[in-house]
Amino acid sequence: MASVTLKGIYKKYAGGVTAVSDFNLDIEDKEFIILVGPSGCGKSTTLRMIAGLEEISEGELYIGDRLVNDIAPKDRDIAMVFQNYALYPHMTVFDNMAFGLKLRKTPKDEIKRRVDEAARILDITHLLDRKPKALSGGQRQRVALGRAIVREPQVFLLDEPLSNLDAKLRAQMRTELSKLHLRLGTTFIYVTHDQTEAMTMGTRIVVMKDGFIQQVDTPQNLYSKP
Ligand code: ADP
Ligand code: ADP
Repeated sequence: MASVTLKGIYKKYAGGVTAVSDFNLDIEDKEFIILVGPSGCGKSTTLRMIAGLEEISEGELYIGDRLVNDIAPKDRDIAMVFQNYALYPHMTVFDNMAFGLKLRKTPKDEIKRRVDEAARILDITHLLDRKPKALSGGQRQRVALGRAIVREPQVFLLDEPLSNLDAKLRAQMRTELSKLHLRLGTTFIYVTHDQTEAMTMGTRIVVMKDGFIQQVDTPQNLYSKP
């Protein structure tokens, strides 16, 4: 069970900004949901609330049938991929990918199995001994994905993961992310301001504006309407 349900969610930041208002959405198991909209419309805040990195001011958040409002990020069965990759510069690719599992006291042979498998999926096996500074932007992005994959989460949260890549690599990674979604069979919740990404990858697109949901629809319906 890896549906995600948001019921009447609000986020009011200290200082008075209401970043998200009355957000209602049922995300089904295995969906690739895209949150799209202009800068400042509340996409990131929504994702961070699902991740547990931001407190929910009002409303209910369920992952599967579990109410997770007060559940710590590490206990939510989610993994998040950040725009800036957030790799540890002093660690090898292997150790970067293994780090979260080590924290969770996963047995060593299990860590190795998962890192090797993720590396194979992402085609970065030959990079496992390198440090991040010896990687290209695209390779770093793969390592960041790998670090999330090894956790084997029910839900993947991705915050503009391709925005630091050049156009050619972005196009390539769009295809790879779609394949990865199918291969892993998990729910993806993906934030972007890029319409091409929304159109080509999403099963459904949530258009946000000023903290509100404006529209929810399939790419086909959304972009064929005038
Ligand atoms: P988006 O991801 O769509 O660009 P954000 O969720 O980052 O939008 O921001 C939504 C609104 O909340 C913006 O007005 C932003 O300035 C505000 N905001 C974001 N983070 C904070 C914060 N930590 N404190 C106060 N206001 C914030
Ligand atoms: P998580 O287990 O939450 O996915 P990681 O396994 O990547 O996160 O890292 C575990 C801990 O290290 C978390 O508390 C996270 O906030 C922190 N962390 C992750 N990346 C960085 C970073 N680049 N610099 C400093 N701390 C980080």
